Amino acid sequence: MEKDLTLENQETQEIQDIQEFQDSSDEENHSECMICKRDKVEYMCFPCRCKILCKKCAMKMASGGKCRKCTKLFVQCKRIL
Ligand SMILES: [Zn+2]
Ligand SMILES: [Zn+2]
Repeated sequence: MEKDLTLENQETQEIQDIQEFQDSSDEENHSECMICKRDKVEYMCFPCRCKILCKKCAMKMASGGKCRKCTKLFVQCKRIL
């Protein structure tokens, strides 16, 4: 009985590792601005919190707009700390 339990735990752990890896790599792919596709991302849309804007594009869209990532409307750009 004990051996069976150990095997089950190992399989669950492996699945969790794979999911964590995919999440972090997805985040790294969006390090350049999704509007101008040139500058580094420094701002996120709020309240959806998508990190997609460089400084210049954040200034242009400071009063809000449509998020390019999740397509929701945002009301503010916040600096990523
Ligand atoms: Zn930009
Ligand atoms: Zn968004």
